[in-house]
Amino acid sequence: MQLPSSFLNSLEGLPGYDPVLFEAAHLQAAPITSIRINPAKKSDLSFSLTPVPWAQMGSYVSPRPSFTFDPNFHAGAYYVQEASSMLLEQVFLQSGLSNQPIRALDLCAAPGGKATHLHSLLAPGSLLVANEVIRSRTGLLRDNMIKWGADNVIVTQNDPAHFEKLPGYFDWITLDAPCSGSGLFRKDHDAIASWTAGQVSHCALRQQRILQAAWKVLKPGGVLFYATCSYSAAENEEIAEWFINEYGAIFMAIQLDSSWGVIETTNGYRCWPHHVLGEGFFFTCFQKPNTAAPIERAFRTEKNKQIKKSVDFSSLVEWIDLDGMDVTEMGGQLMAFPKAMQADLQIIQSAIHPVYAGVRIGEWMRDKLIPDHALALSTHLSSVVEHLPLDYSQAIAYLQRKEIKAATSTKGWMVAAYQGLPLGWLNVLTGRINNYYPKGLRILKEHL
Ligand code: SAM
Repeated sequence: MQLPSSFLNSLEGLPGYDPVLFEAAHLQAAPITSIRINPAKKSDLSFSLTPVPWAQMGSYVSPRPSFTFDPNFHAGAYYVQEASSMLLEQVFLQSGLSNQPIRALDLCAAPGGKATHLHSLLAPGSLLVANEVIRSRTGLLRDNMIKWGADNVIVTQNDPAHFEKLPGYFDWITLDAPCSGSGLFRKDHDAIASWTAGQVSHCALRQQRILQAAWKVLKPGGVLFYATCSYSAAENEEIAEWFINEYGAIFMAIQLDSSWGVIETTNGYRCWPHHVLGEGFFFTCFQKPNTAAPIERAFRTEKNKQIKKSVDFSSLVEWIDLDGMDVTEMGGQLMAFPKAMQADLQIIQSAIHPVYAGVRIGEWMRDKLIPDHALALSTHLSSVVEHLPLDYSQAIAYLQRKEIKAATSTKGWMVAAYQGLPLGWLNVLTGRINNYYPKGLRILKEHL
Protein backbone atom coordinates (compact mmCIF):
# COMPACT_ATOMS: atom_id res chain seq x y z
CA MET A 1 0.00 0.00 0.00
CA GLN A 2 1.71 3.19 -1.24
CA LEU A 3 0.35 6.34 0.41
CA PRO A 4 0.77 9.57 -1.64
CA SER A 5 3.76 11.61 -0.42
CA SER A 6 1.75 14.85 -0.68
CA PHE A 7 -0.77 13.27 1.69
CA LEU A 8 1.89 12.10 4.17
CA ASN A 9 3.60 15.51 4.07
CA SER A 10 0.29 17.22 4.86
CA LEU A 11 0.06 15.27 8.13
CA GLU A 12 3.44 16.39 9.49
CA GLY A 13 3.10 18.13 12.84
CA LEU A 14 -0.47 17.02 13.57
CA PRO A 15 -1.03 15.89 17.18
CA GLY A 16 -0.46 12.12 17.43
CA TYR A 17 1.01 11.71 13.92
CA ASP A 18 4.06 9.47 13.62
CA PRO A 19 5.08 8.71 10.02
CA VAL A 20 6.75 5.37 10.78
CA LEU A 21 3.96 3.97 12.98
CA PHE A 22 1.27 5.41 10.70
CA GLU A 23 2.68 3.70 7.60
CA ALA A 24 3.24 0.47 9.55
CA ALA A 25 -0.42 0.50 10.65
CA HIS A 26 -1.37 0.71 6.96
CA LEU A 27 0.62 -2.42 6.21
CA GLN A 28 -1.10 -4.42 8.93
CA ALA A 29 -2.43 -7.61 7.36
CA ALA A 30 -5.78 -8.28 9.03
CA PRO A 31 -8.29 -5.41 8.96
CA ILE A 32 -10.13 -4.73 12.20
CA THR A 33 -13.78 -5.76 12.19
CA SER A 34 -16.33 -4.63 14.73
CA ILE A 35 -20.07 -4.82 15.28
CA ARG A 36 -22.60 -3.11 17.50
CA ILE A 37 -25.32 -5.23 19.08
CA ASN A 38 -28.94 -4.11 18.81
CA PRO A 39 -30.19 -3.93 22.43
CA ALA A 40 -33.78 -4.22 21.15
CA LYS A 41 -33.15 -7.68 19.63
CA LYS A 42 -31.70 -10.32 21.88
CA SER A 43 -29.56 -12.75 19.92
CA ASP A 44 -27.11 -15.54 20.43
CA LEU A 45 -24.09 -14.73 18.25
CA SER A 46 -21.68 -17.51 17.45
CA PHE A 47 -18.53 -15.47 16.80
CA SER A 48 -15.78 -14.52 19.19
CA LEU A 49 -16.36 -11.02 20.60
CA THR A 50 -14.04 -8.63 22.45
CA PRO A 51 -15.60 -5.43 23.85
CA VAL A 52 -14.95 -2.03 22.24
CA PRO A 53 -14.17 -0.15 25.47
CA TRP A 54 -15.94 3.12 24.54
CA ALA A 55 -19.23 1.61 23.34
CA GLN A 56 -21.36 -0.56 25.59
CA MET A 57 -22.82 -2.58 22.72
CA GLY A 58 -19.70 -2.54 20.54
CA SER A 59 -17.44 -5.57 20.02
CA TYR A 60 -14.45 -6.48 17.89
CA VAL A 61 -14.97 -9.67 15.91
CA SER A 62 -12.07 -11.86 14.99
CA PRO A 63 -11.76 -13.60 12.61
CA ARG A 64 -14.18 -11.69 10.36
CA PRO A 65 -17.19 -13.95 9.75
CA SER A 66 -19.33 -13.89 6.62
CA PHE A 67 -22.03 -11.45 7.67
CA THR A 68 -23.94 -12.11 4.44
CA PHE A 69 -24.45 -15.69 5.52
CA ASP A 70 -25.43 -14.91 9.10
CA PRO A 71 -29.25 -14.80 9.52
CA ASN A 72 -28.84 -12.70 12.69
CA PHE A 73 -27.30 -9.92 10.59
CA HIS A 74 -30.40 -9.85 8.37
CA ALA A 75 -32.66 -9.94 11.43
CA GLY A 76 -31.07 -6.69 12.68
CA ALA A 77 -29.41 -8.30 15.72
CA TYR A 78 -26.29 -6.17 15.10
CA TYR A 79 -24.79 -3.56 12.79
CA VAL A 80 -21.31 -3.93 11.32
CA GLN A 81 -19.61 -0.65 12.25
CA GLU A 82 -16.08 0.66 12.39
CA ALA A 83 -15.01 0.97 16.06
CA SER A 84 -13.69 4.59 16.11
CA SER A 85 -17.10 5.79 14.87
CA MET A 86 -18.65 4.36 18.02
CA LEU A 87 -17.03 7.19 20.02
CA LEU A 88 -20.24 9.07 19.27
CA GLU A 89 -21.56 7.24 22.34
CA GLN A 90 -19.15 9.02 24.69
CA VAL A 91 -20.11 12.40 23.27
CA PHE A 92 -23.84 11.74 23.48
CA LEU A 93 -23.65 10.37 27.04
CA GLN A 94 -21.68 13.48 28.12
CA SER A 95 -23.91 15.93 26.22
CA GLY A 96 -26.51 16.11 28.99
CA LEU A 97 -29.18 14.98 26.52
CA SER A 98 -29.22 11.24 27.14
CA ASN A 99 -31.69 11.22 30.05
CA GLN A 100 -34.54 13.18 28.53
CA PRO A 101 -36.78 12.84 25.48
CA ILE A 102 -35.23 14.89 22.68
CA ARG A 103 -35.55 15.64 18.98
CA ALA A 104 -32.42 14.37 17.24
CA LEU A 105 -31.32 14.81 13.64
CA ASP A 106 -28.68 12.87 11.72
CA LEU A 107 -28.07 15.12 8.75
CA CYS A 108 -25.79 12.81 6.69
CA ALA A 109 -27.10 9.48 7.84
CA ALA A 110 -26.69 6.81 5.11
CA PRO A 111 -26.04 3.92 5.45
CA GLY A 112 -27.12 4.34 9.08
CA GLY A 113 -24.21 3.39 11.36
CA LYS A 114 -24.40 6.44 13.60
CA ALA A 115 -28.18 6.73 13.27
CA THR A 116 -28.77 3.18 14.54
CA HIS A 117 -26.21 3.79 17.29
CA LEU A 118 -27.83 7.03 18.44
CA HIS A 119 -31.22 5.35 18.27
CA SER A 120 -30.08 2.78 20.83
CA LEU A 121 -28.88 5.56 23.15
CA LEU A 122 -31.88 7.90 22.99
CA ALA A 123 -34.14 8.20 26.04
CA PRO A 124 -37.71 6.88 25.59
CA GLY A 125 -40.02 9.44 23.97
CA SER A 126 -37.27 10.78 21.69
CA LEU A 127 -37.60 11.36 17.96
CA LEU A 128 -34.86 10.65 15.42
CA VAL A 129 -34.88 12.18 11.94
CA ALA A 130 -32.36 10.34 9.76
CA ASN A 131 -31.63 12.30 6.59
CA GLU A 132 -29.66 11.44 3.48
CA VAL A 133 -29.48 13.82 0.52
CA ILE A 134 -28.43 11.26 -2.09
CA ARG A 135 -31.50 9.47 -3.32
CA SER A 136 -29.79 6.20 -4.22
CA ARG A 137 -28.46 5.95 -0.63
CA THR A 138 -31.73 6.80 1.12
CA GLY A 139 -33.20 3.34 0.43
CA LEU A 140 -30.28 1.66 2.21
CA LEU A 141 -30.71 4.01 5.17
CA ARG A 142 -34.45 3.23 5.34
CA ASP A 143 -33.78 -0.54 5.13
CA ASN A 144 -31.21 -0.36 7.92
CA MET A 145 -33.55 1.63 10.18
CA ILE A 146 -36.31 -0.91 9.47
CA LYS A 147 -33.95 -3.78 10.32
CA TRP A 148 -33.10 -2.02 13.59
CA GLY A 149 -36.81 -2.34 14.47
CA ALA A 150 -37.20 1.37 15.28
CA ASP A 151 -40.65 2.98 15.63
CA ASN A 152 -39.65 6.60 16.37
CA VAL A 153 -37.60 7.36 13.27
CA ILE A 154 -38.46 9.50 10.25
CA VAL A 155 -36.21 8.96 7.24
CA THR A 156 -35.95 12.04 5.02
CA GLN A 157 -34.28 12.77 1.71
CA ASN A 158 -33.31 16.44 1.74
CA ASP A 159 -30.44 18.77 1.11
CA PRO A 160 -29.25 20.13 4.48
CA ALA A 161 -30.36 23.63 3.34
CA HIS A 162 -34.00 22.45 3.22
CA PHE A 163 -33.97 22.08 7.00
CA GLU A 164 -33.99 25.87 7.36
CA LYS A 165 -37.78 25.53 7.43
CA LEU A 166 -37.30 23.96 10.88
CA PRO A 167 -35.28 26.66 12.69
CA GLY A 168 -34.13 25.71 16.19
CA TYR A 169 -36.06 22.43 16.02
CA PHE A 170 -33.49 19.84 17.13
CA ASP A 171 -31.77 19.33 20.50
CA TRP A 172 -29.02 17.16 18.98
CA ILE A 173 -27.51 17.00 15.50
CA THR A 174 -25.10 14.35 14.21
CA LEU A 175 -23.09 15.72 11.31
CA ASP A 176 -20.90 12.92 10.01
CA ALA A 177 -19.68 14.90 7.05
CA PRO A 178 -18.89 13.69 3.54
CA CYS A 179 -15.09 13.95 3.42
CA SER A 180 -11.95 12.99 1.53
CA GLY A 181 -11.98 9.63 3.32
CA SER A 182 -8.28 9.14 4.12
CA GLY A 183 -9.18 7.61 7.49
CA LEU A 184 -10.53 4.58 5.64
CA PHE A 185 -7.51 3.99 3.37
CA ARG A 186 -6.84 0.66 5.11
CA LYS A 187 -10.29 -0.60 4.15
CA ASP A 188 -10.75 1.21 0.84
CA HIS A 189 -7.59 1.01 -1.26
CA ASP A 190 -9.29 2.73 -4.24
CA ALA A 191 -9.64 5.89 -2.14
CA ILE A 192 -5.82 6.16 -2.00
CA ALA A 193 -5.53 6.68 -5.75
CA SER A 194 -8.26 9.32 -5.84
CA TRP A 195 -6.90 11.40 -2.90
CA THR A 196 -5.80 14.93 -3.88
CA ALA A 197 -5.23 18.14 -1.93
CA GLY A 198 -7.88 19.72 -4.18
CA GLN A 199 -10.42 17.14 -3.06
CA VAL A 200 -9.68 18.05 0.57
CA SER A 201 -10.37 21.76 -0.13
CA HIS A 202 -13.55 20.87 -2.01
CA CYS A 203 -14.75 18.74 0.93
CA ALA A 204 -13.90 21.51 3.42
CA LEU A 205 -16.11 24.00 1.55
CA ARG A 206 -18.95 21.49 1.49
CA GLN A 207 -18.49 20.80 5.23
CA GLN A 208 -18.81 24.54 5.91
CA ARG A 209 -22.03 24.69 3.90
CA ILE A 210 -23.53 21.72 5.76
CA LEU A 211 -22.49 23.16 9.16
CA GLN A 212 -24.12 26.50 8.30
CA ALA A 213 -27.38 24.69 7.54
CA ALA A 214 -27.13 22.52 10.66
CA TRP A 215 -26.57 25.51 12.95
CA LYS A 216 -29.90 27.07 11.94
CA VAL A 217 -31.77 23.87 12.80
CA LEU A 218 -30.13 23.46 16.21
CA LYS A 219 -31.99 24.71 19.28
CA PRO A 220 -30.24 27.33 21.45
CA GLY A 221 -28.44 25.21 24.06
CA GLY A 222 -28.51 22.22 21.70
CA VAL A 223 -25.50 20.05 20.87
CA LEU A 224 -23.90 19.30 17.50
CA PHE A 225 -21.58 16.33 16.96
CA TYR A 226 -19.28 16.87 13.97
CA ALA A 227 -17.13 14.05 12.59
CA THR A 228 -15.12 13.06 9.52
CA CYS A 229 -13.12 10.01 8.50
CA SER A 230 -10.39 12.27 7.12
CA TYR A 231 -6.96 12.97 8.63
CA SER A 232 -6.68 16.39 6.98
CA ALA A 233 -6.64 19.38 9.33
CA ALA A 234 -8.50 21.40 6.68
CA GLU A 235 -11.57 19.18 7.24
CA ASN A 236 -11.14 18.89 10.99
CA GLU A 237 -9.35 21.38 13.29
CA GLU A 238 -9.59 24.19 10.73
CA ILE A 239 -13.31 23.61 10.24
CA ALA A 240 -13.81 23.60 14.02
CA GLU A 241 -11.89 26.86 14.37
CA TRP A 242 -13.84 28.50 11.55
CA PHE A 243 -17.11 27.37 13.12
CA ILE A 244 -16.23 28.72 16.56
CA ASN A 245 -15.08 32.05 15.12
CA GLU A 246 -17.92 32.55 12.64
CA TYR A 247 -20.84 31.22 14.65
CA GLY A 248 -19.84 31.48 18.29
CA ALA A 249 -20.14 27.69 18.63
CA ILE A 250 -18.93 26.55 22.07
CA PHE A 251 -16.47 23.65 21.97
CA MET A 252 -17.47 20.95 24.47
CA ALA A 253 -14.57 18.97 25.94
CA ILE A 254 -15.21 15.23 26.30
CA GLN A 255 -13.63 12.99 28.98
CA LEU A 256 -11.98 9.97 27.36
CA ASP A 257 -10.01 7.19 29.03
CA SER A 258 -6.34 7.66 28.11
CA SER A 259 -5.92 3.89 27.53
CA TRP A 260 -8.19 4.15 24.47
CA GLY A 261 -5.49 6.07 22.58
CA VAL A 262 -7.71 8.92 21.34
CA ILE A 263 -5.54 12.03 20.84
CA GLU A 264 -6.74 15.43 21.97
CA THR A 265 -6.19 18.08 19.31
CA THR A 266 -7.23 21.72 18.94
CA ASN A 267 -11.02 21.80 19.42
CA GLY A 268 -11.48 18.10 18.82
CA TYR A 269 -10.25 14.51 19.02
CA ARG A 270 -8.30 12.34 16.61
CA CYS A 271 -8.20 8.58 16.18
CA TRP A 272 -4.99 7.38 14.51
CA PRO A 273 -4.69 3.70 13.55
CA HIS A 274 -1.34 3.44 15.39
CA HIS A 275 -2.94 4.64 18.65
CA VAL A 276 -6.54 3.36 18.56
CA LEU A 277 -7.97 -0.05 17.71
CA GLY A 278 -10.00 1.41 14.87
CA GLU A 279 -9.75 3.45 11.69
CA GLY A 280 -8.92 7.13 11.19
CA PHE A 281 -11.57 9.45 12.61
CA PHE A 282 -11.94 13.01 13.85
CA PHE A 283 -14.77 14.19 16.06
CA THR A 284 -15.75 17.23 17.98
CA CYS A 285 -18.79 18.59 19.71
CA PHE A 286 -20.29 22.08 19.98
CA GLN A 287 -23.02 23.67 22.00
CA LYS A 288 -25.13 26.49 20.59
CA PRO A 289 -25.12 29.42 23.01
CA ASN A 290 -28.29 29.53 25.05
CA THR A 291 -28.39 33.30 24.81
CA ALA A 292 -30.09 33.23 21.41
CA ALA A 293 -33.75 34.20 21.62
CA PRO A 294 -35.98 31.13 21.73
CA ILE A 295 -37.65 30.39 18.42
CA GLU A 296 -41.15 31.83 18.70
CA ARG A 297 -42.27 30.78 15.28
CA ALA A 298 -45.15 28.30 15.28
CA PHE A 299 -44.40 25.48 12.91
CA ARG A 300 -47.01 24.68 10.30
CA THR A 301 -48.92 21.60 11.37
CA GLU A 302 -51.71 21.37 8.85
CA LYS A 303 -52.84 17.82 8.16
CA ASN A 304 -51.12 16.13 5.30
CA LYS A 305 -53.77 15.27 2.74
CA GLN A 306 -52.28 11.82 2.26
CA ILE A 307 -53.09 10.87 5.84
CA LYS A 308 -56.58 9.91 6.74
CA LYS A 309 -58.11 7.25 8.94
CA SER A 310 -60.34 5.06 6.78
CA VAL A 311 -59.90 1.54 8.15
CA ASP A 312 -61.29 -0.20 11.22
CA PHE A 313 -57.99 -0.58 13.00
CA SER A 314 -59.30 -2.80 15.81
CA SER A 315 -58.38 -6.02 13.95
CA LEU A 316 -54.78 -4.83 13.73
CA VAL A 317 -54.13 -6.06 17.28
CA GLU A 318 -53.59 -9.53 15.79
CA TRP A 319 -50.61 -8.08 13.96
CA ILE A 320 -49.11 -5.24 15.89
CA ASP A 321 -48.77 -4.10 19.47
CA LEU A 322 -50.20 -0.59 19.20
CA ASP A 323 -49.42 0.51 22.73
CA GLY A 324 -48.54 4.22 22.49
CA MET A 325 -48.90 4.20 18.71
CA ASP A 326 -51.32 5.86 16.31
CA VAL A 327 -52.20 4.25 13.01
CA THR A 328 -52.52 6.33 9.89
CA GLU A 329 -52.78 5.67 6.19
CA MET A 330 -50.03 7.02 3.99
CA GLY A 331 -49.97 6.45 0.25
CA GLY A 332 -52.18 3.35 0.51
CA GLN A 333 -50.04 1.81 3.27
CA LEU A 334 -50.92 1.63 6.94
CA MET A 335 -48.26 2.86 9.24
CA ALA A 336 -47.87 3.19 13.00
CA PHE A 337 -46.12 6.12 14.60
CA PRO A 338 -45.79 7.10 18.29
CA LYS A 339 -48.87 9.03 19.42
CA ALA A 340 -46.75 11.48 21.38
CA MET A 341 -44.87 12.51 18.22
CA GLN A 342 -47.74 12.93 15.77
CA ALA A 343 -47.34 16.72 15.80
CA ASP A 344 -43.63 16.34 14.95
CA LEU A 345 -44.48 14.05 12.08
CA GLN A 346 -46.93 16.57 10.67
CA ILE A 347 -44.48 19.45 11.05
CA ILE A 348 -41.76 17.45 9.31
CA GLN A 349 -44.14 16.41 6.54
CA SER A 350 -45.08 20.02 5.90
CA ALA A 351 -41.49 21.26 5.89
CA ILE A 352 -39.32 18.58 4.26
CA HIS A 353 -39.47 15.27 2.41
CA PRO A 354 -39.96 12.14 4.52
CA VAL A 355 -39.60 8.87 2.66
CA TYR A 356 -40.41 6.62 5.60
CA ALA A 357 -41.77 7.03 9.12
CA GLY A 358 -42.50 4.77 12.09
CA VAL A 359 -43.47 1.18 11.28
CA ARG A 360 -45.05 0.32 7.95
CA ILE A 361 -47.76 -2.21 8.84
CA GLY A 362 -48.91 -3.16 5.37
CA GLU A 363 -51.64 -2.73 2.83
CA TRP A 364 -55.32 -3.11 3.65
CA MET A 365 -56.99 -5.06 0.82
CA ARG A 366 -60.59 -6.26 0.91
CA ASP A 367 -60.72 -6.13 4.73
CA LYS A 368 -57.47 -8.06 5.02
CA LEU A 369 -53.94 -6.99 5.79
CA ILE A 370 -51.07 -7.80 3.46
CA PRO A 371 -48.32 -7.37 6.06
CA ASP A 372 -45.21 -5.36 5.25
CA HIS A 373 -41.65 -6.59 5.79
CA ALA A 374 -41.05 -3.68 8.20
CA LEU A 375 -43.71 -5.04 10.56
CA ALA A 376 -41.96 -8.42 10.78
CA LEU A 377 -38.69 -6.70 11.75
CA SER A 378 -40.33 -4.24 14.13
CA THR A 379 -40.23 -4.54 17.89
CA HIS A 380 -44.01 -3.87 17.72
CA LEU A 381 -44.78 -7.17 15.97
CA SER A 382 -47.61 -8.72 17.99
CA SER A 383 -46.64 -11.70 20.12
CA VAL A 384 -49.68 -13.57 18.76
CA VAL A 385 -48.20 -13.69 15.24
CA GLU A 386 -47.04 -17.26 14.71
CA HIS A 387 -43.36 -18.00 14.08
CA LEU A 388 -42.08 -20.70 11.78
CA PRO A 389 -38.68 -21.58 13.32
CA LEU A 390 -36.07 -22.23 10.61
CA ASP A 391 -32.76 -24.00 11.01
CA TYR A 392 -29.61 -22.43 9.57
CA SER A 393 -29.87 -23.80 6.04
CA GLN A 394 -33.61 -23.07 5.85
CA ALA A 395 -32.94 -19.52 7.06
CA ILE A 396 -30.31 -18.98 4.35
CA ALA A 397 -32.66 -20.42 1.72
CA TYR A 398 -35.39 -18.06 3.01
CA LEU A 399 -33.02 -15.06 2.75
CA GLN A 400 -32.14 -16.16 -0.79
CA ARG A 401 -35.88 -16.06 -1.49
CA LYS A 402 -35.96 -19.74 -2.32
CA GLU A 403 -38.88 -22.05 -1.68
CA ILE A 404 -38.99 -23.20 1.95
CA LYS A 405 -39.80 -26.77 2.86
CA ALA A 406 -40.94 -26.98 6.47
CA ALA A 407 -43.64 -28.81 8.36
CA THR A 408 -46.37 -26.68 9.92
CA SER A 409 -50.04 -27.21 10.64
CA THR A 410 -50.71 -23.44 10.58
CA LYS A 411 -52.11 -21.81 7.43
CA GLY A 412 -51.72 -18.21 6.37
CA TRP A 413 -49.22 -15.54 7.34
CA MET A 414 -46.33 -16.49 9.65
CA VAL A 415 -42.96 -14.94 10.36
CA ALA A 416 -39.90 -16.90 9.33
CA ALA A 417 -37.73 -16.91 12.44
CA TYR A 418 -34.13 -17.88 13.11
CA GLN A 419 -33.17 -18.48 16.76
CA GLY A 420 -36.29 -16.59 17.79
CA LEU A 421 -35.64 -13.49 15.66
CA PRO A 422 -38.05 -12.69 12.79
CA LEU A 423 -36.52 -12.50 9.31
CA GLY A 424 -39.64 -11.68 7.28
CA TRP A 425 -42.99 -13.07 6.14
CA LEU A 426 -44.14 -16.43 4.80
CA ASN A 427 -47.61 -17.33 3.59
CA VAL A 428 -48.45 -20.98 4.22
CA LEU A 429 -50.87 -22.44 1.67
CA THR A 430 -51.98 -26.05 1.21
CA GLY A 431 -48.91 -27.94 -0.03
CA ARG A 432 -46.80 -24.80 -0.52
CA ILE A 433 -45.13 -22.04 1.45
CA ASN A 434 -44.77 -18.69 -0.32
CA ASN A 435 -41.63 -16.76 0.53
CA TYR A 436 -42.30 -13.02 0.99
CA TYR A 437 -38.74 -11.92 1.71
CA PRO A 438 -38.28 -8.62 -0.24
CA LYS A 439 -36.63 -9.21 -3.61
CA GLY A 440 -34.30 -6.23 -3.22
CA LEU A 441 -32.89 -7.57 0.06
CA ARG A 442 -32.31 -11.17 -0.95
CA ILE A 443 -28.87 -12.79 -0.76
CA LEU A 444 -27.71 -13.13 -4.34
CA LYS A 445 -24.66 -15.32 -3.72
CA GLU A 446 -24.85 -19.08 -3.38
CA HIS A 447 -23.75 -20.43 0.00
CA LEU A 448 -20.55 -22.44 -0.22
N1 SAM B 1 -23.26 8.73 9.13
C1 SAM B 1 -23.15 7.62 8.21
C2 SAM B 1 -22.96 6.34 9.00
O1 SAM B 1 -22.47 6.39 10.12
O2 SAM B 1 -23.32 5.27 8.46
C3 SAM B 1 -22.06 7.85 7.19
C4 SAM B 1 -22.17 9.17 6.49
S1 SAM B 1 -21.00 9.44 5.25
C5 SAM B 1 -19.57 9.81 6.11
C6 SAM B 1 -21.50 11.00 4.64
C7 SAM B 1 -22.85 11.03 3.97
O3 SAM B 1 -23.07 12.37 3.48
C8 SAM B 1 -22.98 10.12 2.78
O4 SAM B 1 -24.09 9.28 2.93
C9 SAM B 1 -23.20 11.07 1.59
O5 SAM B 1 -24.09 10.56 0.65
C10 SAM B 1 -23.76 12.29 2.26
N2 SAM B 1 -23.54 13.54 1.49
C11 SAM B 1 -22.85 13.69 0.34
N3 SAM B 1 -22.92 14.97 -0.08
C12 SAM B 1 -23.67 15.63 0.81
C13 SAM B 1 -24.10 16.97 0.92
N4 SAM B 1 -23.77 17.89 0.02
N5 SAM B 1 -24.88 17.29 1.98
C14 SAM B 1 -25.21 16.36 2.90
N6 SAM B 1 -24.82 15.08 2.84
C15 SAM B 1 -24.06 14.72 1.82
